Amino acid sequence: MRKKTFLVTGGSGFIGSHLCERLLNDQHDVICVDNFFTGSKDNIRHLLDNPNFEIMRHDITWPLYVEADAIFNLACPASPIHYQRDPVQTTKTCILGAVNMLGLAKRLKIPILQASTSEVYGNPLEHPQTESYWGNVNPIGIRSCYDEGKRCAETLFFDYNRQLNTEIKVVRIFNTYGPRMRPDDGRVVSNFIVQALSGKDITIYGNGDQTRSFCYVSDLIDALVKMMNTGAEVTGPINLGNPGEFTILELATLVIELTGSKSKLIFESLPEDDPVKRRPDIAKAKQILNWEPSVQLKGGLMETIKYFDSYLKR
Ligand code: NAD
Ligand code: UDP
Repeated sequence: MRKKTFLVTGGSGFIGSHLCERLLNDQHDVICVDNFFTGSKDNIRHLLDNPNFEIMRHDITWPLYVEADAIFNLACPASPIHYQRDPVQTTKTCILGAVNMLGLAKRLKIPILQASTSEVYGNPLEHPQTESYWGNVNPIGIRSCYDEGKRCAETLFFDYNRQLNTEIKVVRIFNTYGPRMRPDDGRVVSNFIVQALSGKDITIYGNGDQTRSFCYVSDLIDALVKMMNTGAEVTGPINLGNPGEFTILELATLVIELTGSKSKLIFESLPEDDPVKRRPDIAKAKQILNWEPSVQLKGGLMETIKYFDSYLKR
């Protein structure tokens, strides 16, 4: 494939850093744009010496003028505790960030991929979730800055496509985990592993019956690259995730087993608007991208545990 220059917003975050690494391994140039709201230089330190890699400290709520062949728009805090830390900024990142990056894509006439989310389905009344489901979202709750921000970003993407012919690719990512999540990220996989490894109580919110489907990061990166390589007629939205569905209690039990931890389970109150169940229908991804995840939860957790184990010993 021709060497290209990819702009990756949110490139020093969890998923973004793996994507930058993959694109560099595929011999492309990468411009990583990040304001380090949740990202870290540690995630990309090993890439800094690569002459094909460039890092720009920039907040995408402000316009950006660079040259590139395609954009992956990943910038946005993804963990509830971080996106709720400054909810106004989260909405701005979703919406003003989308306007700015779509404007850049329009000027350069290049494709742009939007990292949307299963949160656009809210607390879903349809299960598993297909792309045709419109969702069940609270517009004024504490998750709304993210959920509605991402929904409006999708609207902007499709209007730029219809009105201005911008080549768009919208993917709805379901819970993804793996090395380089922050230990204080607050999401369930990192929380449970860090708690188990440090012998602290494992915090189950609610009774632990709520379900999620967990995709290992390498599988997700394959799908993002495949999506970018599709023709202009493929706009999405396409669900990306692992259809294996687990209760939070099952996840906690598995983490304890794999770490050999003596941590106890404790039950805390369920956060407001916490979705009861979530599982992607990935028929579209299978058919259009010829993609499905290959890493099972146990294997992915073992890799993630290894990462946090050495991180905590640093
Ligand atoms: P993350 O918090 O690790 O990474 C987000 C990155 O965006 C960070 O490096 C952060 O500093 C940067 N950022 C935030 N606001 C910015 C701004 N205004 N300008 C520039 N950079 C900014 O999260 P992640 O898990 O890597 O998620 C990446 C993307 O994927 C996000 O858009 C998220 O909504 C989406 N997503 C992730 C998941 C998941 O399970 N990890 C699920 C659904 C969607
Ligand atoms: N959760 C939990 N304990 C934790 C962190 C999260 O029980 O320490 C629960 C949370 O309430 C939710 C699920 O795990 O039901 C997934 O939470 P996460 O924040 O990872 O992602 P999201 O809710 O956005 O899917």
